[in-house]
Amino acid sequence: MVLKTDLYIDGEWISGTGSLPVYDPSNGEIIAHVATADDSQCEAAIDAAYRAFSPWAKTAPRLRSEILRKAFEIMVSEADQIAELISKENGKVFSDARGEVLYAAEFFRWFAEEAVRTPGDFRQAPSGDKRILVTHQPVGVSLLITPWNFPAAMATRKLGPALAAGCTVILKAASETPLTALYIVDILHRAGVPGGVVNFVMPAKSGPQIAKMLHDPRVRNLSFTGSTEVGRILIREAAECVVRTSMELGGNAPFLVLEDANIDEAVKGAMIAKMRNGGAACTAANRFVVARKVAPEFIEKFTATMSALKVAPGMTEGAQLGASVSVKERNKIAELVDNAVTAGATVELGGKIIEGTGAFYPATVLTVDKDNPILRHEVFGPVAPIVVFDTDEEAIAIANDTEYGLISYVYSSDLARAMRTAEAIESGMVAINRGVISDPAAPFGGVKQSGLGREGGFAGIHEFLETKYIGVEI
Ligand code: NAP
Repeated sequence: MVLKTDLYIDGEWISGTGSLPVYDPSNGEIIAHVATADDSQCEAAIDAAYRAFSPWAKTAPRLRSEILRKAFEIMVSEADQIAELISKENGKVFSDARGEVLYAAEFFRWFAEEAVRTPGDFRQAPSGDKRILVTHQPVGVSLLITPWNFPAAMATRKLGPALAAGCTVILKAASETPLTALYIVDILHRAGVPGGVVNFVMPAKSGPQIAKMLHDPRVRNLSFTGSTEVGRILIREAAECVVRTSMELGGNAPFLVLEDANIDEAVKGAMIAKMRNGGAACTAANRFVVARKVAPEFIEKFTATMSALKVAPGMTEGAQLGASVSVKERNKIAELVDNAVTAGATVELGGKIIEGTGAFYPATVLTVDKDNPILRHEVFGPVAPIVVFDTDEEAIAIANDTEYGLISYVYSSDLARAMRTAEAIESGMVAINRGVISDPAAPFGGVKQSGLGREGGFAGIHEFLETKYIGVEI
């Protein structure tokens, strides 16, 4: 595999003015240096995207669709290589990385299908003598910013709809995981995306350089996935120049096990909801809220399953829990657990940094009171705090006692009860008796401090389309 490490502007791979080391967090070794861009290179990316916009917007949707379909096929055929790259720069285990690649590729396929199906509307005005024609047009040059936890899927979930809609883009990946994004940009290049339609830059200093790019009036749209903290900064920046934003931000998902749940199924779902991606998912179950009657059985079975996980570097045969993305991120997890213990949490499993090389943290289970501070934070690691409740109303109140509202999980053998609970929980998505519901064909997104807008599904393409009304008098 030849790693792409340069900037990609106007269809060309070009050297940067600086460079950024990329580490393998399982052993701390540098795996590559990626080019970084100065202000003039960031501006060159905007120039290229702006020049390419009009021709790309006018390109037949069928052709845009076929390019995306080709990208899907290349991505699937190279899934193992991409998964290895993800595992190396992100630390996650190969099976998780491979699952991510296939999920990520599906965004190219889904939006290849959506590119040719944008609906419009034509109506008679109530006055009778006028017609209302509603159509959609691509927003324009879009800035796409992605996090490190799903370096492939968070990029394709934006690139797919943007290109399908007819927007041109500048992609900026997280500094920990730029190599996967570069690989995907190369796939799009090979799939036939014209020069300037997709551009990739890693600004040497994200904050000031992204702010400067947002203040360029040719940039019309910002699609961000990352922390709520950075999302707030970017919403402020975007407000200054009235740039459209879509914000996929942090989560603090509750996982409710009601007293009539099938506990074996709940444990299976809990393992997926908590441990997919080593717990580093915005959708990760972060607070286990379990009915008192079934809590002993759930805690025992869940802890036993967690304790059996094989912790090892991501590419090790049979590894189930890899390294965190960096020692800094791993130490954040450790600090949250230490504070939880100081506040009275009981450690059922794990709870101490794995000493030695690499950013490893063990699978950890805590039992906590409902006022323990760990329940207020997104943990982003393999840590499962469990809190017990007595009534469904109390469970819902605990679930809603957070500033976040991305996703929730409910386990119950009574579908009507689960539905009532799902409707009462303040989150953009609810999984009933399932440990994962992310699906390119479904609208993904949160409420409260978890963000604005939706990605995927029928809604996803509309983040990159403006609505235009044309009034006609006849
Ligand atoms: P992050 O620190 O917010 O960074 C995300 C991206 O923003 C990175 O590319 C980062 O670049 C960039 N960035 C940081 N500061 C910036 C600034 N001032 N201006 C412009 N860009 C800036 O998040 P992360 O640690 O990578 O990812 C974890 C977070 O993402 C979690 O909170 C998780 O819940 C959230 N997430 C949400 C979803 C969702 O769909 N809702 C999905 C996945 C992840 P640098 O690396 O160069 O700083």
